[in-house]
Amino acid sequence: MSGSLYIVAAPSGAGKSSLVNALLEREPGIALSISHTTRPPRPNDHDGEHYHFVNRGVFERMIADGLFLEHAEVFGNLYGTARAAVEPLLAQGRDVLLEIDWQGARQVRAAMPGCVSVFILPPSRAELERRLRNRASDDAPTIARRLAESREEVAHAGDFDYLVVNDQFADALADLRAIVSCQRLRREAQAVRHAALIADLLKAD
Ligand code: GDP
Ligand code: ADP
Ligand code: 5GP
Repeated sequence: MSGSLYIVAAPSGAGKSSLVNALLEREPGIALSISHTTRPPRPNDHDGEHYHFVNRGVFERMIADGLFLEHAEVFGNLYGTARAAVEPLLAQGRDVLLEIDWQGARQVRAAMPGCVSVFILPPSRAELERRLRNRASDDAPTIARRLAESREEVAHAGDFDYLVVNDQFADALADLRAIVSCQRLRREAQAVRHAALIADLLKAD
């Protein structure tokens, strides 16, 4: 049986990557898809770990070759999920999680209607700004651009299956884990997992 595909989106600075990393530490059964991007690496970014960093020429070649499940331009850079990062894992029954923007989420929903999508909200605009500044990974113009574009991201929150507010980190993490539990308890998955039990309970005396 195919694994579950999770999408997590949020305005930049809401805590998406921190929450996803904490979730994956506790749920080793979920694989994180490593996106391709034309954004220059930040000081702590290592190629192949957080992203595959490529130039625009390579990225455009990959688009032309149909290698992406989805791709989008975000903050002036191209970001995309390679099919190879997702499809073989799902086929093996592994769960896969995508950290992507709303444009990518829309494309994935259309291609894979069974996916589970989660949108993370910051507790306030002031706190979003504080987190972007504290992260200290982007310069002032980049932070200003990300804040300005947070409205466009949040405007699409209504397209997602679940909304999680990342105020207290531990609470938001518990919410994410509850969403994963819900998905794993769905009848389609449980019926496969517990086929022998159900068959046994149905046996005539
Ligand atoms: P951060 O998530 O704010 O730390 O910033 P990133 O540079 O990692 O991500 C920038 C934007 O690109 C975010 O809105 C992401 O959701 C989006 N993004 C990242 N990876 C992908 C991807 O594979 N596909 C798409 N469509 N968007 C992506
Ligand atoms: P995103 O991936 O959404 O851009 P990050 O995971 O990089 O966001 O988080 C942005 C900053 O906010 C980081 O410095 C992170 O440590 C911090 N952060 C995340 N969640 C919380 C929270 N619940 N309370 C306070 N700070 C947080
Ligand atoms: P950052 O440059 O801060 O790492 O990421 C900025 C935004 O790009 C994030 O909000 C992230 O969700 C989005 N993003 C990262 N990878 C992808 C991707 O593969 N596809 C799409 N559509 N968006 C992505």
